[in-house]
Amino acid sequence: MLRPRLRVLLPLPLAGAYDYRSPVEGPVPPRGSFVQVPLGGREMIGVVWDGEADPDLPEKKLRDIKAVLEVPPMTESLRKLVEWVAAYTLSPPGAVLRMAMSSPSALEPPGAKAGWTLSAAGLRAKLGRSNARITQNRQKVLGAIGEGEVLGASMLAQAAGVSAGVVRGMAESGLLEPALMPRSDAFPVPDPDRPGPLLGAEQANAAAAMRDATAARRFGVTLLTGVTGSGKTEVYLEAVAEALRQGRQALVLLPEIALSTQWLARFEGRFGVPPALWHSELGSKRRRDTWRAVAEGQVRVLVGARSALFLPFPDLGLIVVDEEHETSFKQEEGVVYHARDMAVVRARLAAAACVLVSATPSLETLTNAETGRYASLHLPVRHGGAAMPEVRLIDQRVAPPERGRFLSPPLVEAVRQTMAAGQQAMLFLNRRGYAPLTLCRACGHRLQCPNCSTWLVEHRIQRRLQCHHCGHAEPIPPSCPSCQAEGSLTPLGPGVERVQEEAAELFPDARRLVMASDTIPGPAAAAEAARAIEAREVDLIIGTQIVAKGWHFPHLTLVGVVDADLGLAGGDLRAAERTVQLLHQVAGRAGRAEAPGRVLLQSWSPEHPVLQALVAGDLDGFMREEAAQRRPGHWPPFGRLAAVIVSAEDEREADRVAHDLGLAAPRGEGFEVLGPAPAPLALLRGRHRRRLLLKARREVAVQPVLREWLAGVAVPAHVKVQVDVDPVGF
Ligand code: ADP
Ligand code: ZN
Repeated sequence: MLRPRLRVLLPLPLAGAYDYRSPVEGPVPPRGSFVQVPLGGREMIGVVWDGEADPDLPEKKLRDIKAVLEVPPMTESLRKLVEWVAAYTLSPPGAVLRMAMSSPSALEPPGAKAGWTLSAAGLRAKLGRSNARITQNRQKVLGAIGEGEVLGASMLAQAAGVSAGVVRGMAESGLLEPALMPRSDAFPVPDPDRPGPLLGAEQANAAAAMRDATAARRFGVTLLTGVTGSGKTEVYLEAVAEALRQGRQALVLLPEIALSTQWLARFEGRFGVPPALWHSELGSKRRRDTWRAVAEGQVRVLVGARSALFLPFPDLGLIVVDEEHETSFKQEEGVVYHARDMAVVRARLAAAACVLVSATPSLETLTNAETGRYASLHLPVRHGGAAMPEVRLIDQRVAPPERGRFLSPPLVEAVRQTMAAGQQAMLFLNRRGYAPLTLCRACGHRLQCPNCSTWLVEHRIQRRLQCHHCGHAEPIPPSCPSCQAEGSLTPLGPGVERVQEEAAELFPDARRLVMASDTIPGPAAAAEAARAIEAREVDLIIGTQIVAKGWHFPHLTLVGVVDADLGLAGGDLRAAERTVQLLHQVAGRAGRAEAPGRVLLQSWSPEHPVLQALVAGDLDGFMREEAAQRRPGHWPPFGRLAAVIVSAEDEREADRVAHDLGLAAPRGEGFEVLGPAPAPLALLRGRHRRRLLLKARREVAVQPVLREWLAGVAVPAHVKVQVDVDPVGF
């Protein structure tokens, strides 16, 4: 009898699944099973995939599946997600599978370790009902382990204060017997029925609608909007509670999980235990345990970064994407995908509810809500009656900062008044380091990254120049590298370090805290910063975009934006949208408790529509205007875009392949190809980059067009062609 053939997908960037023979022993593994198979000279873990194996492949060419792993099989809905993401992003399915396996190490043999427990004889001895003579050391061990308890050998020896040899001896003489260690209670079950906060009327309505959507056990997307501080988080936690009551799992995606200590504390306050976490800094053991606990259904609620979307939830009832407008949900390397969009796909495949949350939703999501594809819920006011902050512009043409300074007199005065009133102030500048550009005053030379087409940013604290794109760093040169002039290098423009320097001179007695990725590298630093601010140990916060994230600082009443024009320039389609979102989020940090907040925007072009919308507090109007501008030209979200990026170390090669792609550009109804042109970073990490854009009407499926186009152009091995469907920055 011939053994059945199965397709096995491997977590490698290969074209498709490979055929294998069912294992020699045991039943035929069902689809989704994790299996160990030979590949070339090595062994790999893959997944029994959908579809039929090739019946014509000669029997002698087939190899056997070596083993079936004791992990719950990958669900059909996750397998479909893998296929869907692969097809949509034009990636090999195996590359997507790799993300779903997190790393093959998550699938090493079972995490349960053997330990020791009391045997019947051991229990008798412990209870003093044994005739056998028990040494003093053995008595200690019997005293250290309870009935039914399972402990590892070294743990038990340590608890008893004896050597491990004593434990071994007791095992040999039958007082202890081996047992599987219970799973650690590292993933405690959140309790949905603990009392939550008393919701206001509008919050309660929204919560009820979301509970119903979650209880319906079918796919649906809800957009939850509301001003900053309106209680969106409290409200969607009620949807999480409902998923728990339904016995299903919930996933919450957050853009900056490492900075979300306040969020985690609130979760624990609501449900009594912390949620499981998933992000890049998780240790490998924790990663493995979490992966398994998700697969086995022990993890009930998980909060994570975008990659959590590919975890093996067997029964997902709810996905929440908080701050859905954040561009960090887009993965730009490897499989290029947008986690918000793929969350909607996963929810559909899993028949789960999906909630997108933001005070400043993306135009994509707003449009979907407008056309009725998404339900929408809105919280119109801040919780507890706190007013929205008043936003005003400081026209720097009228009130310029002193020469070489960056804080204008009205802003300085406002900071001073705020601190004098015993309240906290914040200065925001979305730029790390000391100065974004260093110029030689003698010859005009600008210090540039050797690997990228960007300026080097001075970081004065580290006394280095850094590239924010490739990580290149070098000491600040004593003289101009071009003309050798001494002392002619001048920093131009401010970064947060420079604002901090100016603030130190202006407000020497203020207790200042800089919040940037250099000073807040991880969760511990973020937690400490939040604690110090809440405890009023800080008067003045100076920060980059880190401070725009969902912080709740009740004593903060003034936000000063040092350069409100930053981000408005440049040819990026979404520059205005993104700036409005960022500045609105920063502004939303002010006045979240009783004392009213105010926001001052320093600008050289105060008439700009983005700034006017912020002052008028009319984001809806701004987004309507933005839609009206994009719609006629079929720009996203009213049309589709895909970027094709060609890169090579050799500039001529990049040019040649880009040129060939341009010549082979497809023609057809409803789409066109733009370019080739230099990509926005024409040199990045030592590779020259060219870009072509496929721009299409909404009704055009771009993937078949792209696939056919790219298949027709020969690409040498060291030239890379990367496709980015729905690019966010261009
Ligand atoms: P958003 O997510 O809309 O910015 P949050 O959910 O963070 O708003 O709420 C802002 C602050 O108000 C938080 O400290 C939150 O705990 C508090 N809050 C919101 N709603 C309530 C409520 N009904 N009862 C008590 N506190 C609330
Ligand atoms: Zn660089």
